[in-house]
Amino acid sequence: MDFKQYITVVENFPKEGIRFKDITTLMENGEAYKKAIDEMAEFAKDKDVDVVVGPEARGFVVGCPISYCLGLGFVPVRKSGKLPREVLGVDYGLEYGKDSLNIHKDSIKPGQRVLITDDLLATGGTIEATIQMVEELGGVVAGIAFMIELSYLDGRSKLGKYDVFTLMTY
Ligand code: IMP
Repeated sequence: MDFKQYITVVENFPKEGIRFKDITTLMENGEAYKKAIDEMAEFAKDKDVDVVVGPEARGFVVGCPISYCLGLGFVPVRKSGKLPREVLGVDYGLEYGKDSLNIHKDSIKPGQRVLITDDLLATGGTIEATIQMVEELGGVVAGIAFMIELSYLDGRSKLGKYDVFTLMTY
């Protein structure tokens, strides 16, 4: 399937000069959304994954249905102040801004194999912070799956040693 036909490119959002890739038009199409999730789940199927992790909010849109497909649990990564129990946190840089991300400290057990998911790989800051937290908790990154990779921002150079899957590249 040509998934790109369902992505809307929005000029100058959220600020001047950014060409925002809007996945909501893909999500609105049941067939395209299902096929996208199925392909991402297929990538993870033979990786002996124990749990799926994804950063808010679009990482949930991708990661939760993948975890459901695989019959696995889902662990949310959230902005600070959102998770109710004891957290591990890291600061990270975004394509357009700076923030910090948190994960529940007891959400991943040492040795568990983790599939990390997000909608889009830009500079790689978000996913690098997520990997850092997973590994600090003793998790093993079994694979990383994105719907979209913005290859011109070279986020992949931060992910050299990991098994990375993307459905679409711009
Ligand atoms: P990175 O940390 O620079 O790789 O940015 C990736 C994060 O920013 C992801 O969680 C995306 O949801 C978000 N993001 C950055 N650019 C876009 C875009 O063009 N469309 C949708 N999300 C984006």
